[in-house]
Amino acid sequence: NTFQDLGLNEDLLHAITDLGFTQPSEVQNKAIPILLNSETDLVALAQTGTGKTAAFGFPMLQKINIDSRTTQGLILSPTRELCLQITNEMKLYGKYCKGLNVVAVYGGASITDQARDIKKGAQIIVATPGRIKDMISRRLVDISKIEYAVLDEADEMLNMGFFEDITDILSNTPEDKCTWLFSATMPREVSVIAKKFMENPQEITV
Ligand code: AMP
Repeated sequence: NTFQDLGLNEDLLHAITDLGFTQPSEVQNKAIPILLNSETDLVALAQTGTGKTAAFGFPMLQKINIDSRTTQGLILSPTRELCLQITNEMKLYGKYCKGLNVVAVYGGASITDQARDIKKGAQIIVATPGRIKDMISRRLVDISKIEYAVLDEADEMLNMGFFEDITDILSNTPEDKCTWLFSATMPREVSVIAKKFMENPQEITV
């Protein structure tokens, strides 16, 4: 089947053509229709390299309102490298979504610069837990209108000791948002997070 069959819009299909993606990967085939067609929580067991960034990225880009400058999507990732990688991919996937601003927020770089980029209006923020928690407490970012939250590599984030930070961050987001959790493994801590923050999540495994 094709990306068109999955229900993606023209702007995204145009970017997909440019990228040379010919067929959706397994995780994309399973996740995209669920995320596009329902307002649901999702737990996805998927390794890196399976195309999972696009599996949550395409639906997020299609569902947010790009005409608004409110921050509607939040993607949490364990490391600065992954944060930058996801940000780059989201920008490529959204290259024809006119007015889209995706901002990366991570430690070891200027918080002032990141705050300035956010202030210009970022519909999507990709963040490491420590830095965004800091920015929330300094009121440099407002995540109170988030509609879609992604926990990417949830097992890695919890391994790195981000349980408290994630709990803290998610408690600053609306209860009725959708949470999409991606993890390579499902240790107890990940189930705890899923139980705590998700409601009847759909589940997929690749
Ligand atoms: P990820 O698992 O999201 O880190 O993606 C791994 C790599 O696969 C990235 O370089 C993507 O750009 C690429 N990719 C994602 N989806 C597809 C696809 N459907 N066809 C070909 N390459 C893809």
